[in-house]
Amino acid sequence: MLRCPKCGSREIYPVAGGYTGWIYRCKKCGYQGALVLEYDEEEPESGDRRQ
Ligand SMILES: [Zn+2]
Repeated sequence: MLRCPKCGSREIYPVAGGYTGWIYRCKKCGYQGALVLEYDEEEPESGDRRQ
């Protein structure tokens, strides 16, 4: 799972690949870059399940 490092949105998708790796773009805030946040497990959208 990928998330935008800027706004935390999950509406982020790869737009190009090249020598340096993938470039991602956030649909929500318009962020574009190679840096994204990766999560292995799903986070609750609006939960109080934080420990
Ligand atoms: Zn964003």
